[in-house]
Amino acid sequence: MRIILATRSAGKLRELEPMLRQAGFEPVTLADLGVAESPDEDAIEAYDTFEENAQAKARHFLARFPGDVVLADDSGLAVDALGGAPGVRSKRWAMRDGLVGHSLDAANNAKLVASLRGVGDHRARYVAVVAIVSRELMVTARGECAGKIVELPRGDDGFGYDPHFLSDELGITFGEAPRAAKERVSHRGRAVAAALEKLRALQVAQPPSRHTDE
Ligand code: IMP
Repeated sequence: MRIILATRSAGKLRELEPMLRQAGFEPVTLADLGVAESPDEDAIEAYDTFEENAQAKARHFLARFPGDVVLADDSGLAVDALGGAPGVRSKRWAMRDGLVGHSLDAANNAKLVASLRGVGDHRARYVAVVAIVSRELMVTARGECAGKIVELPRGDDGFGYDPHFLSDELGITFGEAPRAAKERVSHRGRAVAAALEKLRALQVAQPPSRHTDE
């Protein structure tokens, strides 16, 4: 079955595509469908929770493709010593309008390192909420993983804050981790696995008009 991956993030797509393919779906991107990025898309995810943002993104693109299944991911980094920031504002934390891709990541990472200078506690979590919606159903599921922020970046893999996120479980940064290793312990890997499990349970056990939330 085809599933639309409702994200503009190349980093997320690199991770989501193999996960969904392995689960037996045929993932298609917004670019595959010729949906040009519009400048007001950032405004869709203006809510204060990952759940609401993920659902809003999924519903936004479902309205465009009502006969399809759409998956959206809202995710971010929550740093203990910063009271959970940047959290749902992780993407544009550096507040540098106009930056995209590596330049945006670099600005966010510079702010992260500067914010923790002189701070002893570097514990952090990545959080992801995945929403899968169709005309008949909606499931949302959350995944988390714990780590610590390191001052010097390590590794060129992953995206975003990954070179500064030392995974407790892997003992290396997500920037150093091969894709499959990150998937095994990551917030996104866990959220996708949990969402797919809910989806399967719903399809097997219930008529296709029920909605579930975390
Ligand atoms: P959003 O879900 O589009 O609001 O953006 C999530 C933002 O959180 C990304 O732009 C990254 O800055 C950060 N983020 C989320 N997941 C990851 C990850 O797996 N690695 C690195 N950064 C991430």
